[in-house]
Amino acid sequence: MSSRWEAAADLVVVGTGVAGLSAALEAVRAGLRVVVVTKAEADAGNTRWAQGGVAVVLPGEHEPGDSVHRHVDDTLVAGAGLCDPAAVATILAEGPDAVARLRAGGAVFDPAGDDQPDRRGRLALAREGGHTAFRVVHAGGDATGAEVERALLAGVRNQRLTLLERHVAARVVRTEAGAVAGLLVLADDGVAGILRAPAVLLATGGLGQLYEATTNPDVATADGIALALRAGASVADLEFVQFHPTVLYPGRGATGSRPLVTEAVRGEGAVLIDAAGERVMEGVHPLGDLAPRDVVSAAIIRRLAEVPGGVDDHVFLDATHLRAEVFRTRFPTVYAACRAIGVHPASEPIPVAPSAHFGCGGVVTSVDGRTAVPGLYAAGEVARTGLHGANRLASNSLLEGLVTGRRTARAVVADLSAGKAARQSAGRLGDEGDGADVLTAEPVADRPGLQQLMSRHAAIGRDQAGLAIVAKSLDAMASRTLPAGRADVEDAALHLAARALVLAASTRTESRGCHVRHDHPVRDDQRWRRSLVVGLDESGEPTLLPALDLGGVA
Ligand SMILES: Cc1cc2nc3c(=O)[nH]c(=O)nc-3n(C[C@H](O)[C@H](O)[C@H](O)COP(=O)(O)OP(=O)(O)OC[C@H]3O[C@@H](n4cnc5c(N)ncnc54)[C@H](O)[C@@H]3O)c2cc1C
Repeated sequence: MSSRWEAAADLVVVGTGVAGLSAALEAVRAGLRVVVVTKAEADAGNTRWAQGGVAVVLPGEHEPGDSVHRHVDDTLVAGAGLCDPAAVATILAEGPDAVARLRAGGAVFDPAGDDQPDRRGRLALAREGGHTAFRVVHAGGDATGAEVERALLAGVRNQRLTLLERHVAARVVRTEAGAVAGLLVLADDGVAGILRAPAVLLATGGLGQLYEATTNPDVATADGIALALRAGASVADLEFVQFHPTVLYPGRGATGSRPLVTEAVRGEGAVLIDAAGERVMEGVHPLGDLAPRDVVSAAIIRRLAEVPGGVDDHVFLDATHLRAEVFRTRFPTVYAACRAIGVHPASEPIPVAPSAHFGCGGVVTSVDGRTAVPGLYAAGEVARTGLHGANRLASNSLLEGLVTGRRTARAVVADLSAGKAARQSAGRLGDEGDGADVLTAEPVADRPGLQQLMSRHAAIGRDQAGLAIVAKSLDAMASRTLPAGRADVEDAALHLAARALVLAASTRTESRGCHVRHDHPVRDDQRWRRSLVVGLDESGEPTLLPALDLGGVA
């Protein structure tokens, strides 16, 4: 690593999704020197793929009777007792302002069409699972994330900041006292660089690649979870992985990233049916097909298990009541994905199956992105603010990224001026070396093996025996490697995140939200209405820390 380069900044942002870009924009406006690092192309994260939209109660735009208060209530219900009510109230109350800023920055949301004559001149509103009102604004029909990403990236490219693509964040560098001193990155060709900075924001997105089938793109490998754990921060609610109930099923044995069939299709009246044509959600929940995602996914898995011989691995979404033209215009992305596998969504039911979609837990932070490590911040899907609890309410995460990204930038500014993190990071780098040797050999997963294990034993429907198999096998199949590039960093992150997740999932002996235990099917509020926190012990092994009260980090 003798050829490594160095640069300095006030803030290094890792990730170019909604959270990282929102933070970077605000930090530059506040006068900070910002470097934004991302391991692939700038638009490669989950944000770009978001379909349904942004859940927000906009003044002058909302349905009669809807309110931020009602949005808060729906979020708390979906979160199954594990949301932090104060965090929920803060983030959702700032939603309207965040969306207004995004629109002022050039993002264009869909106006109401002829089918909503009472809303002429206002934004179209959709409804998704768990919402008791039409309150989801969308763009390009079902291409909301692409528009959000486009607008934010255009904003960032107009600013004076450095955007470093194709560099993977491999390790947070700290001072002797344990505060953040910078970030070690590796380029695609393996050349290392040290970005010296007193503040590092992890906005690294999701962990869908822990599973064989996911809606997440290939960059969603839980890197931020591993970076934070190794820097001394803790993670919580990791056992709650949301499986989206309606992900396009391309055929038996297919693995990898799969196209989503947005919940908004059910918002337009589509219903889930099994192979015999029977409704899946009838009598299961008062909101029927628009019940929260954990409820719908679990109902599908139950229905599939009831099929004689357990041979079915998918159900169908019947949207044939929508005319082809309406479907194509309102849901162009879904329409194209269906046609790509030969399905005509307006004349035949769409084959779907639940797939890994969203990590509800993550790095423990306040709503201002602060972790317990001075100078280390996290925002967006990688963070656990307490907004999502045991199950995220649909379309709340783009909003969270917009709000908490900006709040985090403001927290960094405040912390730098208050001297909580040294503005000049020239001081000695500490116990992790001088930056040249901050990387150590880590257990690196065999990715296909890990994904198979996690899908079989740590997806929807877990039990102690299966989780024990994963824990044991993960260690057996990993090899210790000094990360030399992106693939190693990702495989080490997947290994560590899987171990932390499995530890939490085997400890939580109840079923709640997205965590469904066959051997403990009942929710146990007395024992388990708390967030399980995982950190690393001195030998680098995931270990349980005292559970978090629902106030999170101050
Ligand atoms: C198919 C799909 C549909 C969705 N639909 C909706 C929706 O309708 N509404 C909604 O609210 N949410 C939706 N979501 C969820 C939402 O898109 C995400 O939660 C949100 O966009 C996450 O934003 P983020 O900024 O946290 O991360 P991301 O957008 O995932 O960005 C993460 C960034 O970090 C980078 N990165 C990761 N690790 C490293 C590393 N080690 N070094 C350098 N860079 C790194 C990635 O390359 C990427 O740039 C959807 C998600 C998917 C996958």
